[in-house]
Amino acid sequence: MEKQQLILASNNIHKVEEIKHFIGDRFELLTLEQIGFEGDIEEPGSTLSENSMIKAEYIFDKYHQSCIADDSGLEVLSLNNEPGVYSARYAGPQRSHEDNMNLLLKNLKGETDRSAQFRTVITLIHEGKISQFDGVVKGKIISEKRGEQGFGYDPIFVPEGYDRTFAQMSLTEKNGLSHRTRAIEKMIEYLNL
Ligand code: IMP
Repeated sequence: MEKQQLILASNNIHKVEEIKHFIGDRFELLTLEQIGFEGDIEEPGSTLSENSMIKAEYIFDKYHQSCIADDSGLEVLSLNNEPGVYSARYAGPQRSHEDNMNLLLKNLKGETDRSAQFRTVITLIHEGKISQFDGVVKGKIISEKRGEQGFGYDPIFVPEGYDRTFAQMSLTEKNGLSHRTRAIEKMIEYLNL
């Protein structure tokens, strides 16, 4: 069967590889760079779901081709689910992972409920339909950074049922339980892949 093209509204090579791994047989995944799109897509929404939708619709309106967009964030229960959609720029526009973690640890100082979850929302526009899939991994925020792998809040997030942070796991082990994988798996099921 000829492969269908699917645009991923991102240039993040890690996301591309991760999604390719699941859908590579049926779809040819194209990044924004590969379709000649330059610049950033605005993310003015106040939820992950809105931003994921905005990105997918923007690309679909421009290229009229099947596409997917994702948006992820960390939700901390005792902080009313912050930083959530603002995860990348929690401590400011410099988008520093270190600054973001330091601010979160400061805001959680003395807090006994440290429950948190990573969430991903994927929007798929395909064959005239818009669908959304979400994936969640529950866990807690510890009070110091541990581990060197991964990115973002990985050094301070311990998933439920484990005593190591995401940053202390190999990429394969983290991907096996990550929010992104769970959302991708739901999309795979929907597409009957
Ligand atoms: P994005 O929507 O995938 O670009 O994620 C937005 C932000 O959420 C990132 O810049 C990180 O701060 C945080 N984040 C998302 N996924 C992860 C993860 O798997 N580990 C750690 N932080 C993450």
